[in-house]
Amino acid sequence: MRGELVVETLVSVWQEMYRQSPSKVVIDEPHHSRRLTAEDLFVRSELSARRLAALGCGAGDRVSIDVAEPIDFLIAHLGVLRLGAISVPVPKGSSDGEIRDLARNCSPKVVLSDHSLSASWSEDGVMVVNLDTDVRPDDEVSIDDADADSVALMLYTSGTTGKPKGVPLSHRNLLATARSVLAAWEWSREDSLLLALPLHHMHGLGIGIHGTLCAGATAVAFERFDVDAIIKEVRNQRVTMFFGVPTMYAKLLGHEGFEAFANLRLMVSGSAPLSAESFRRITEVTGQEPLERYGMSETGMITSNPYRGRRIPGSVGKALPGVAIRLSGGDEGEVLVRGEAVFGGYWRQEQATREAFTSDQWFRTGDLGTLDQDGYLMINGRAKELIIKGGQNVFPREIEGCLEEMAGIVEAAVIGEPDEYWGERIVAVLVAASAPPDQETVRQFVAERLSRVKVPDEVRYIEELPRNRMGKIQRELLRG
Ligand code: AMP
Repeated sequence: MRGELVVETLVSVWQEMYRQSPSKVVIDEPHHSRRLTAEDLFVRSELSARRLAALGCGAGDRVSIDVAEPIDFLIAHLGVLRLGAISVPVPKGSSDGEIRDLARNCSPKVVLSDHSLSASWSEDGVMVVNLDTDVRPDDEVSIDDADADSVALMLYTSGTTGKPKGVPLSHRNLLATARSVLAAWEWSREDSLLLALPLHHMHGLGIGIHGTLCAGATAVAFERFDVDAIIKEVRNQRVTMFFGVPTMYAKLLGHEGFEAFANLRLMVSGSAPLSAESFRRITEVTGQEPLERYGMSETGMITSNPYRGRRIPGSVGKALPGVAIRLSGGDEGEVLVRGEAVFGGYWRQEQATREAFTSDQWFRTGDLGTLDQDGYLMINGRAKELIIKGGQNVFPREIEGCLEEMAGIVEAAVIGEPDEYWGERIVAVLVAASAPPDQETVRQFVAERLSRVKVPDEVRYIEELPRNRMGKIQRELLRG
């Protein structure tokens, strides 16, 4: 109605979408034969919100969610949102130390966990609560009254220093991204999304889960990408869409059951570049072209190849509805973005925030690209040093810091090199004091301290690291 103030949040939109169909399945976990209807989700997320309130959480507080199973994750996430608090999903596979670092950065009131973290953890003054803990809910607290500009979610991404930065996203930001892909991909309540992506990320959560909720649709969710289980599910003909990272497609291409994907109406690829060769092979096997899109935590989805129309291999497509893009140098240069989905600034990092925007408020992605005359964007490489292995971000500086703690290692530089399967593999270039430790010893050292994805695939030794006059390592000279 004209003039009436409509406060839309992810919570209000989600509830509206399933109001007429409370028995509709929102999320299905075939690997556990569990499913959750809209009504179950409503009741259980409210209980989760009221329990968090009983633990002392309120609007604006951060709640870290370290929960693997998609149904449990979704209940916890929506519980946090309904309380008006900020959901901080813990990256999958994080070690206790990494979770502690994240908590130091965002100081959550509570860490909701589905497994026991070490005792030293709770000494930091953060409450670690197991999902099964029986807390008496607070029946008095008012819920569902966040507004569109309340921060709902904080994702973690890299910085040039290699330290992960918190990316706070409001309901308005998150709705803008979900709605842009809903419109572009003709996502409707009839759809059922096959989802096996990690849920701590924009891809799995920001579009996979939030898109499902905003469409009033269903997600068939797996805790991990198991190629046999995925193909079996597609053969069942219940699902209509699949979202994956290029590494998943590489795995599927090596499996003879992949042709079952011909049953789907849409296969989306993102988070890392999909090679033109993979595009061609996927099309050959399934009879349909994958749809590549491009986005990031800070901006939500930026571009997409069209659902109807020409999909160009090697291109990430055109700007999504509600998103404006331009390149710093006209038709080439750094990709700059503006729109409702773009965040307002990093969590408690004013300088990084200032540097992230141009003087006229365009967000600087750090990605380099070119635009063709029809508005299709090509990403030519990252200006940053971030390594993306299997769709997961790996920050070289973090691994370097770890390696430099190893006895006998003087200096370390970590680089990503192209890899057909992983997208990028991790190479550690080391300077040793005397007898260099062998590759397995180095890998073991990292594996004991960081999550598996960060363990170098290869170790090389060098006399001295090449540096420029400013003392910065010249990584380009290290590539083999
Ligand atoms: P994140 O913030 O973790 O989502 O990572 C965002 C980064 O992933 C972007 O800045 C790009 O460098 C990269 N990225 C995402 N999608 C694509 C794509 N389709 N092609 C190339 N790079 C991509």
